[in-house]
Amino acid sequence: MSFAIAIDGPAAAGKGTISKAVAAHFGFAHLDTGLLYRAVGAKVLAGAEPIAAAKALMPEDLEDSSLRTAEVAQAASRVAVIGEVRAALVDFQRAFAQRAGGAVLDGRDIGTVICPDAAAKLFVTASAEVRAERRFLELEARGSDVTREQVLADVKERDARDMERAEAPLKAAEDAKVIDTSDMSIGDAVETAIAAIKVQREG
Ligand code: C5P
Repeated sequence: MSFAIAIDGPAAAGKGTISKAVAAHFGFAHLDTGLLYRAVGAKVLAGAEPIAAAKALMPEDLEDSSLRTAEVAQAASRVAVIGEVRAALVDFQRAFAQRAGGAVLDGRDIGTVICPDAAAKLFVTASAEVRAERRFLELEARGSDVTREQVLADVKERDARDMERAEAPLKAAEDAKVIDTSDMSIGDAVETAIAAIKVQREG
C-alpha cells in the first residue's frame, strides 16, 4: 500500500534533515524534490534551455555532487517559476509518492500540488536569520568563502521568488502541521515531526 508524507517549507528550515530522519523512522523511501529543480538549474547554467532540460531529466542527473552550491540554488529557483518546467517534473514526483512501502517527499509544493491527498503533511519553517545562519555554517564547513550577509540575502531572495511566483507558490497546505524549528534542536524537530505524522496518520 502506498503512504505519502509531504514535507514543505522554505530553504534551510530543516526539511532535508527532518525528511531523512522521518523516512528512516518509518522505513520509507525519500525524495528531495529540490534536487530536480537544482538539476534543471545546473543544466541551464551549462547552456541548456530550461523546458527541454526538465523534459530530458534522468534520475542519474540527481546524483551530481555539484548541485548543492548557492549558484545552483539560485538557478533552481529561477527555473522553478516556469510552469512548463514544473509540469515536466510532476509525473516523476507522483510516481515516487505512490511507490509501495511508503514515501517521504520534501519540497515547496508537495502538500499543495504534487500530493494534495498525502496521508500526512508538515510545513517546516524557521526565521530567515536562523535559516541563513544554518546554511552559512553548512557552506563554510564545505570550504565556501561566502559571508553571512551574502547567505542571508540569498535566502531572502529565494524565499521571495518561491512565495510570489504564480505557479505552485511556497505556502503551507491548509491541512499541514506547521513546525517552526527556529528554537529547536535537530533532535527536538525530528521528534516533533514524527509525533505530528503519527497524529495525522491516526486521525
Ligand atoms: O529545496 P532546495 O533549496 O534544494 O530547492 C531549490 C529551489 O527549487 C527552491 O528555491 C525552489 O525554487 C525550487 N523548488 C520548487 N519546488 C519544489 C522543490 C524545490 O519550486 N518542490
